[in-house]
Amino acid sequence: MTTFSSIVRKYEKLCDNKDIPCETVMAYLTELSQRERYDLYLHYEDEMPEALEKEFEAGMDRILHYEPMEHVLGYSWFYGYKMIVNEDVLIPRPETEELCANILAKMDEWFVDNQSIACADVGTGSGAIAIVLAKEEPKVHMMATDISEEAVVTARKNAENNEADIEFVTGDMLQPLIDKGIKLDVLVSNPPYIPQEEVMEKSVVDFEPHVALFGGEDGLKFYREIFKNCKKVLKEKAFMAFEMGWDQRERMSKLVEEMLPGCEYEILKDMNGKDRMSFVYFK
Ligand code: GLN
Repeated sequence: MTTFSSIVRKYEKLCDNKDIPCETVMAYLTELSQRERYDLYLHYEDEMPEALEKEFEAGMDRILHYEPMEHVLGYSWFYGYKMIVNEDVLIPRPETEELCANILAKMDEWFVDNQSIACADVGTGSGAIAIVLAKEEPKVHMMATDISEEAVVTARKNAENNEADIEFVTGDMLQPLIDKGIKLDVLVSNPPYIPQEEVMEKSVVDFEPHVALFGGEDGLKFYREIFKNCKKVLKEKAFMAFEMGWDQRERMSKLVEEMLPGCEYEILKDMNGKDRMSFVYFK
C-alpha cells in the first residue's frame, strides 16, 4: 500500500538527489489534491487514492526533469490570484508581489485627491502585476503592454478569469503608449533584467521564455529604453516602479542619475534583504 507519507518521502529523496528543493513535493501534492497541508498531515499514514497517485507520479516525473511545478500544474498563485502560466510567460515570483504591495502603498500616498490613476504595466507577461493593481486599487485605469502576442493571449485570459478590467496592447516597450498619446500617473515594469551571460537554474533557463529574462549584456537594456522615452508617456507628477536584479543597485543608481538628472529615486529591498525594486519620482 502506498501511503501519503511513503510517497512524499520517496520523492523528497529523489528531488534532493537532483538539487531540486524538497518543499516542491508537498507544495505539488497540496495543489494537486486540493487539500490543505494540515489535512494531508492528519491523514499522512492513509493510503493515497490510486488516481491521485498516478497523476502525482506523472507530475513528479516532469518536475524531476526540471520542469517548473507551475508548468506541470498550469497555474501559479500570485497575491492570492490564480494565474495561468505556460512557456510564453514568466512565472510570477514572490518578489514581484512585494513590488505590487509597494506600488499600492505609494499610490495611496501620492494620489489621495485623484479620481483616477492612469497606470501601465510595460512587458506584462502573464499580466500578474497589472491584474493585482487593477483589482486592489479601484481608482486605477490599467493598461498593459507586451511585445509577445502569445504572452498577451495568456494575460488576457488571466484578466478575464480574475475579472480585472485591463486594456492590453501588443507592442515594443513604450511604443504602443506613445502611439496612443497616453499620459500616465504610474509606469510599472518588471523587465527582463538577467545579464545575457548569466548561468541560471535549469528549470528557469530551459522552460521560461528568454524574451522575459535576459536584459542585454549588463541586464539594464530595458531600463535604458524606458528612461530614454518615459517623459513622453508620463504626466508631470508621476512615478515609475521597477523590479531589478539584487546586484544592480550601483549601476541602477548611476543610470537614473545619468538619464533622469534631478529625479528623486529610491531602491527598496525584498524580504530576503536584497535590493529588488527601484522607484523614480517626478514631482
Ligand atoms: N527574477 C527572475 C529570475 O531570477 C527574473 C525576472 C526578470 O528578469 N524580470 O528568474
